[in-house]
Amino acid sequence: MLIRRAELGGLRVDLRLRENRIVEIAEGLPVLPGEDVLDAAGGALLPGLKDHHLHLHALAAARASVDCGPPADADALAQALRYADRKLPPGQWLRGIGYHESVAGDIDRHWLDATVPERPLRLQHRSGRLWLLNSAALALVEQSADDPLERRGGRATGRLYDADAWLRTRIGGRRPALGEVSRWLASRGVTGLCDTSHDNDTAAWSVFAGAQQRGELLQSLRVMGSAALDAVSSTPGLQRGERKFHLHDHELPDFDELCADIRAAHAANRGVAFHCVSRVDLAFALAALQEAGVRGGDRIEHASVCPPEFLEQVGELGLIVVTQPGFIAIRGDAYLRDVEDFDRPWLYRLRGFLDRGIRLAGSSDAPYGDADPWAAMDAAVRRRTASGQSVAGMESLTPEQALALFTSPLEAPGCEVPKLEVGAVADLCLLTEPWGAARNALAEIEVLAAWREGRLISG
Ligand SMILES: [Zn+2]
Repeated sequence: MLIRRAELGGLRVDLRLRENRIVEIAEGLPVLPGEDVLDAAGGALLPGLKDHHLHLHALAAARASVDCGPPADADALAQALRYADRKLPPGQWLRGIGYHESVAGDIDRHWLDATVPERPLRLQHRSGRLWLLNSAALALVEQSADDPLERRGGRATGRLYDADAWLRTRIGGRRPALGEVSRWLASRGVTGLCDTSHDNDTAAWSVFAGAQQRGELLQSLRVMGSAALDAVSSTPGLQRGERKFHLHDHELPDFDELCADIRAAHAANRGVAFHCVSRVDLAFALAALQEAGVRGGDRIEHASVCPPEFLEQVGELGLIVVTQPGFIAIRGDAYLRDVEDFDRPWLYRLRGFLDRGIRLAGSSDAPYGDADPWAAMDAAVRRRTASGQSVAGMESLTPEQALALFTSPLEAPGCEVPKLEVGAVADLCLLTEPWGAARNALAEIEVLAAWREGRLISG
């Protein structure tokens, strides 16, 4: 394939791709017989984007669900659920996502029953860790004495914490198809993904491999998960990722066991990744890594609150931070309301990490964040909430730094971005306009085409 008139490094050039590589770059390259030609008309040619932290199956499911998150209030939520209830065939599950207490408080089965009495309904809290079930749903999940349902006075409240795998076995949830989500991500220039779900096991691995083989999943994929993935081997396009530890500060694991698990992951030639959204999570993860030792590639996911003393430790340990700047835009107003004054300067830091020489990569955490990488880059530059307030404005990045968060390799987040030169793998994202114009309105960027390893996956 010949790409004509692309902007690359400030110049307007033609590029020839053959098999999976860039084989020629020059002005005015001749078209070879039978060669496909795409006219970039001056659009910027960039490395293909990488989303270093998301949850693919949850994202696909979210696209078929009712959005239950802020800024809706209780009335608006009830209305949305009733509307969806009327549209679905009888007996089919109704699924809501993104719930937060600011919408209707600490609701339980009774609130849900009053809204959707007949149909099984489940709402997911936006943290991804809690499901709320109505009575019709509870009746279908076959309660037993040892199930993980929360109970008060012997009766299930409808709350179910950290039990996705259990719920799947109960309701026979098939994993949703990934084609639509994958095509949409490709249309935004995304050529590589890292699925960071902590419960990914060999079954999940096979599902991803199958989706790639069928051509349903267009991107390269790195798969984090449980210790079960120690047993799998990476293939081209499907990488075994880190062992993921999902800490929650109200229920931290045994420290010595955690250290043993870190050592076991390292011994299996795997890195580790820690979900850290509070000071407590981060302190605990850093202490465990200090004790068990760090392997190159070990990661902190989110690092949502990172005061200077922790940032220093992250730097000393040589950890990678994978952040979600988009949360500032979509949740920033709630942070300003709920987070203590003294923690606000340390929320979803960006520049602070870079200044300390810490490798930093960007991601969406979709479906818990907006899946559009350009929206996240825009948020990294503007650091404004939906209502326009600034959140730790000194942490803001330049558009070029924001782009770099999303272009480092899947296997080396925050490391050097591969150069687009002759001989390089053709992993590319082509914009509709030159970078000089695009950089001023990142959220509005349009992508003309994307190639993963020389193959056109969008455009
Ligand atoms: Zn996540």
